[in-house]
Amino acid sequence: MAGNNPDIGIDEFPFLAHDKPRPGQIDMIRECRESLRNKGHHIAAAPTGIGKTAASIAAALEVAMNTSTKPHILFLTGRQSQHKIVIETVRKINSRLGNTHRDIKVVDIIGRESMCEVVDIQTGRCLCEQGSSESARARLKEDVRNYILQEPRHVFDIVEKSKTFGVCAWQTCRSAVKDCDILVCDYNHVFAEQVRENSLPSMGVSLQNSIIIVDEAHNLPDRIRMSMERVITPIIVRNAAMELEEFMGSLENIAMRSSSNSSPQLLEDVSWAFEVIKLLRVKMANYFKTLHEKVNEDEESIVKIDDFTKLIHAACNEYEGVSGQMKLDSENDFQAKSPTQNRFEKLAYTLSQVSVEVEDDEDSSEPDAHRISHIVESIIRFGNTTALCMVFSPKGKEGKITTHLLDPGILSGPLFSKSAGSILMSGTLHPPSMYADILALPKNLTTKTSYVSPFAGERRPVLVARDVTTKYNQRSEDMWNKIRAHIQALIEHSEDHIAVFCPSYRLLDEILGGIFFSGVTKITESRDWVKDDIDRVVAKLKNERKNGNRVLLCGVFGARLSEGIDYDDGVLGSVVCIGIPNPPPSVLSDSLKEYISDKFGSQNAWRYTVTQPAINAILQAMGRPIRSVEDRALILLLDNRNDNRIYRECYPHAMKMNTSNDPNSTKAFAKRFFRRVKRV
Ligand code: SF4
Repeated sequence: MAGNNPDIGIDEFPFLAHDKPRPGQIDMIRECRESLRNKGHHIAAAPTGIGKTAASIAAALEVAMNTSTKPHILFLTGRQSQHKIVIETVRKINSRLGNTHRDIKVVDIIGRESMCEVVDIQTGRCLCEQGSSESARARLKEDVRNYILQEPRHVFDIVEKSKTFGVCAWQTCRSAVKDCDILVCDYNHVFAEQVRENSLPSMGVSLQNSIIIVDEAHNLPDRIRMSMERVITPIIVRNAAMELEEFMGSLENIAMRSSSNSSPQLLEDVSWAFEVIKLLRVKMANYFKTLHEKVNEDEESIVKIDDFTKLIHAACNEYEGVSGQMKLDSENDFQAKSPTQNRFEKLAYTLSQVSVEVEDDEDSSEPDAHRISHIVESIIRFGNTTALCMVFSPKGKEGKITTHLLDPGILSGPLFSKSAGSILMSGTLHPPSMYADILALPKNLTTKTSYVSPFAGERRPVLVARDVTTKYNQRSEDMWNKIRAHIQALIEHSEDHIAVFCPSYRLLDEILGGIFFSGVTKITESRDWVKDDIDRVVAKLKNERKNGNRVLLCGVFGARLSEGIDYDDGVLGSVVCIGIPNPPPSVLSDSLKEYISDKFGSQNAWRYTVTQPAINAILQAMGRPIRSVEDRALILLLDNRNDNRIYRECYPHAMKMNTSNDPNSTKAFAKRFFRRVKRV
């Protein structure tokens, strides 16, 4: 492997941020580059420490700079900390390039809600440009635009500069994108349909001429699924009717004020949709009653898409029958409706046009008319396939129906195919072939590699306890006591702080809540923690270490403490993973299994939907403490199923598992490890 010899190929990579490539990095750059040259896609299961951000950017820049169409590079990430890393990486590239190449230009953008600080909550009006005069604004915007492109800047520096100049940061950033080489932004800009359609063309970016880098790509399938999820309830239908009425009023006002009567068709369609949705509300309420009757309080049920569409047709028929009658009564007004008119498309489109002021809280940030539009649109596109699933849950005030797109590949496949190539990378893209399947990457143009961790295995040993499990039928206070005994043994014979992760908040509370462990102070993650609470955790751990105190940090797999947070500077000495975070049985997971079985074969159904996602969540947590070659940490897996064939095959094959039969062997193992292996 070339990556073992860092002296090879330094001159070969003009856009590498480091003076010396790291082990494994050379292979990754070469493989990404090769793929991109063919407009292909490379899946890089690259563990922490390989330098994957620098590797992906080096490969993408080299290919982009040697392509006549000069594609944009879209670096997609869901983490703000990663935005900073990309900016720092490009700064290093520019300083290494010196006079040999022009500087690389990068634009860093985040969601509008995070960039917009000066919005009048009452009216929703922007106030950022209040301080600048209309006549000077164009020039000021140009100045900020030049500032953005002059050198790599963090988005918050741009927001500050824009504030000082009295111009709109959001708009000015977007106007700079067409002239940059790299755009750092959220996945949504490519993978959330409404965002993509509103965002890329208006920034002068075409997907066909873009190389996509997806950071932490293991999150992409769920991000796509979530972006397609919508809820409908009778109240949402009622609200949509109110929004349509309000919108109709605004259109009528505009029509009255303007002699040109600019949008009579829209007004007519909105009035039609208003009547249909009013009728749908009654039908939906009755339908919910029948759904409630069929399930117990804690059960869910599948909603037949046919039944749901019949409700919409019935509402349309009823109104058109009534209005047709009205029109027949007044013969002069009668106009036959075109039989080919697709009422679903008309309804989805009309609802999507509704523009009303919405409350300024997260739940209502999308008008309810748009939610229903999205659902109708999904039915049009996927209703004839098994990829769309609707689930009724009786919980809450009136119950709810949620739409789920089971197959993210239906959306991502065509997007990747359209692009000028892509790199998908993460430490837990394991196995890469599963992600290639699920995201529907073009088969003949996709390469996949699992890179070897540059960190010696002996600095991060994995110990599996054989005497404990959180398997449902073996849960008991005795079992929890054994788990606690392993943790106490580790505390007594380890150094530094310890992080413990559980499959759910309920188990976290059951196993660790109210339990005293001697020698440590417990900090427990809460569902209510906001970003600031999370941001403070690492600083707090460092501070406690300085004061000679040890902390037992307790969190949940897949939540904030176990993903996307860098415990740098060797602040964690051990990670304990309790149980296996298998998703609880549900009608949704059954549908997903069935879908995966039909599409990828029954042998993959369980692995793709249950075991692999669960082990990948554990792998994410396991990766937290080792952020550099100097770090060392002991990983204790408190569930004997990790040693079973079904779960074992979900771990990277190179990972060595040690076993412990009881808390005493855990104690002995920890003692040996912390005596022999020191933090550098
Ligand atoms: S940054 Fe622009 S869009 Fe945001 S509040 Fe200010 S003026 Fe409005």
